[in-house]
Formats: sequence, C-alpha cells, structure tokens
Amino acid sequence: MQKKLIIGNWKMHPRTLGEARKNFLAVKKEAAACKNVDAAIAAPFTYLLELGKISGAALALAAQNVSSEKEGPHTGEISAGMLAATKVKYVIVGHSERRALGETNDFIAQKVRAVLAAHMTPVLCVGEIERDTGMFYLSAVKTQLEECLALIPKNAVVRVVVAYEPVWAISSTPGHRDATPEDALEMRIYIQKVLADMFGHANADKVRVLYGGSVDEKNALGFLIAGRADGLLPGKASLTPKRFAAILKLANNLK
Ligand code: PEP
Repeated sequence: MQKKLIIGNWKMHPRTLGEARKNFLAVKKEAAACKNVDAAIAAPFTYLLELGKISGAALALAAQNVSSEKEGPHTGEISAGMLAATKVKYVIVGHSERRALGETNDFIAQKVRAVLAAHMTPVLCVGEIERDTGMFYLSAVKTQLEECLALIPKNAVVRVVVAYEPVWAISSTPGHRDATPEDALEMRIYIQKVLADMFGHANADKVRVLYGGSVDEKNALGFLIAGRADGLLPGKASLTPKRFAAILKLANNLK
C-alpha cells in the first residue's frame, strides 16, 4: 500500500516566523514517529526559506502557490525554480481560494507544468462549488481535470497529486456543510475514471487522490477508510500542531 500523504495547508497563518518555526518543529517531532505517512506543511512564502532548513523526510515543505513563468518581469511572483531552491517538495495549485481571485484552468495548467519542470510535485486542487441534484458537479470537476492537466505528457501524471476539495465543505466557505466519506468516495472513483480516460489506467492508478474540506482528527479516518482517500489536505486543523499530529497518527496506524 502506498503511504498516505497528509499535507497541512496553513494558508495565511501563523503571524510570525517564530511561531511558524515552533509549530513546524512540534509537528516534525510527531511526524518522525509516523513512518507510514508522507507528511508536509504548506507554509506562506516568507517562511519557506527558514522552514526549508528544518524540513526533511519526516516533514516536507510545500508552497501554496507558484508563478506559471520561469523568470522575467512578473512583479510579485515566485518561480518554481525559486521554490525548489528552498527545499519545497510539493506545490498546491488551483486552490479554490486562488480560483476565487480569478485563476483559470488554463493558467493553472501552466503552473502544473512549471512545477513538474522544476522537479517538484504539483498538488492540483479540484472541486465543485455546489453539489447540485443534476450531477453537474461531476462535469465541473471533469473540466477542471481535463483543462488543468492539458499541458503535461501522459506519463507525467504519475508525478501529480490531485486533491478533491469540494468548495461547499471548506471551513472558510460561508454556511459550509460537512462532506461525507461517501461524497468523497464517489468523486474519488470519478476522478480516477477521468484520469484513466486521459492518461490510461496504469498511469491513473498511480495518482494519489487526496481529500480536503474541513478534515479534522474526528473525521479523518472516515475519509481515509470509507472514502478511500490516498491522503488528506486539512486547512484549519493543521494550524494546531496537536490536531495535525493526531491526524498523522491516525493515518500512520492504518493497516
Ligand atoms: C482548504 O481550504 O484547503 C481546506 C481544506 O481548509 P479546511 O480544512 O479549513 O476546510
């Protein structure tokens, strides 16, 4: 069985580098005992250089965004090459909070390509805004996958991680509701089918499909077992080292 991948998305937290270091080290200590899990923290850009010095096999580093460009006149952007140089291993692309700022599938596709070219792992977030009764949520995710993965060669998809994050279940979405493991499982199966149609079964089977959306230490096991997720992408629950470590331990103890 492939190791579960658990990535904590800190978003725009914590307020200081000192706190970030302290929290990262606290999680790393617990993560070191979780040999059956791949763990990472997606930290704000300004903390990456420092956290890169203490990240490693027990707790890897992830970035929350990246430029689609290699270098040049792109004010305010950070390239994939720059991230790779700070020991970043995973890069979240296409998060719904960035899509809400105007990022399109075509733009995200360029970011996926840039991350792969810099030998890091893109964590491509997909997810519908609402679960409608007409099943349009399935076609919404299909379009995201098809368009965001349009620029990579067939065999490169095995280096991509897909995170299914239904926007309606994310803790910061006003009036959010919890997804069930069955919701996650249905989409997990569907994502694999879409990937198989695009890249072939052998390649699609190797892609890790994570679940994210109000995951915490109480519901994590449900998504990992009944939801058959290959890992998790918790946001809010990753801000407290104890809570994130509890999720790591649950995943680590799975047989
Ligand atoms: C997220 O936005 O990536 C996320 C899953 O957040 P939360 O766990 O807080 O819902």
